Amino acid sequence: MLDPFGRSISYLRVSVTDRCDFRCVYCMSEDMTFLPKAEILTLEELDRLAGAFIRLGVKKLRLTGGEPLVRRNIMHLFQSLGRHLTTGALEELTLTTNGSQLARYAAALKDAGVKRINVSLDTLDAAKFKAITRWGRFEQVMSGIEAAKAVGLQVKLNAVALKGVNDDEFDRMIAWCGEDGFDLTLIEVMPMGEVGAGARVDQYLPLSMVRSELRKRWTLNESDYKTGGPARYYTVSETGGRLGFITPMTHNFCESCNRVRLTCTGTLYMCLGQEDAADLRAPLRASESDAPVEAAIRAAIDRKPKGHDFIIDRRHDRPSVPRHMSVTGG
Ligand code: SAM
Ligand code: SF4
Repeated sequence: MLDPFGRSISYLRVSVTDRCDFRCVYCMSEDMTFLPKAEILTLEELDRLAGAFIRLGVKKLRLTGGEPLVRRNIMHLFQSLGRHLTTGALEELTLTTNGSQLARYAAALKDAGVKRINVSLDTLDAAKFKAITRWGRFEQVMSGIEAAKAVGLQVKLNAVALKGVNDDEFDRMIAWCGEDGFDLTLIEVMPMGEVGAGARVDQYLPLSMVRSELRKRWTLNESDYKTGGPARYYTVSETGGRLGFITPMTHNFCESCNRVRLTCTGTLYMCLGQEDAADLRAPLRASESDAPVEAAIRAAIDRKPKGHDFIIDRRHDRPSVPRHMSVTGG
């Protein structure tokens, strides 16, 4: 599938639930209202939709959320999607998780064909972890990460850079990840949804500044390593590990965008930072044939926008888009 700007769309991210067992301060407010269960696609419907995307050329599929591993019977979906890896139609099946349920599911994920996973971890300090996630338990996540490593899943840690919160910890995280063989990616906070945690401008830390600061202590060599995502990677000579930067704010990466995002209600967002969306649930449910839904997907890709217009400053201290990251799937 080619979009109007000639970009090939080969990566689908699916938010399988908008619910979560954490309430991270940059992602959700504490008193979130979630979608009524009746609006949510069944696992069979998600499987059918993913199958349509794969037929149309999607090669990489990431399940996310909300927290994907809190959705009931989610392993059935992983197992079913794994069949596309076996046929070779799909190159990669993966997930982004907060790690809380990983100890339970790591082995089953591996069996379903998952090779690499992203775990979100913003700090190595248990008290800070509680303050950031509001409801999370640090020890539980650390056991999850260990379990993933033990079954042979390749782990990448994602940390959102938060001004005055975890900016004193990046050195420690780089060292720790180096020792354990985990890649680490730092992410700029994006202005999505009301989170009830003070001003975004107070959370936002430009990674261009972080990188220059880190260069005083670490040798960062530009790397052409690519995962199909927007991160720009460096290898850290001192640890041998990889360090990525995702910079939607300071360096807009839209020109190489290869992805679209599906919500758990079957709404397709062609851009994380724009409102335009296509309803795929209606054509999916209207017919047993997949032709209508495939036509709806093609029509949506035909209007994928050029990019997002995220801004965070004192004058623009409100969400660029009203929906939370957990709805569209980060
Ligand atoms: N619950 C899972 C997790 O935390 O990994 C998957 C969903 S979460 C929405 C996906 C990623 O989005 C996480 O790495 C999280 O840190 C990031 N995220 C959430 N809100 C964000 C925001 N406003 N700006 C930047 N990243 C955000
Ligand atoms: Fe939940 Fe992930 Fe959002 Fe944190 S970032 S509240 S773990 S969905």
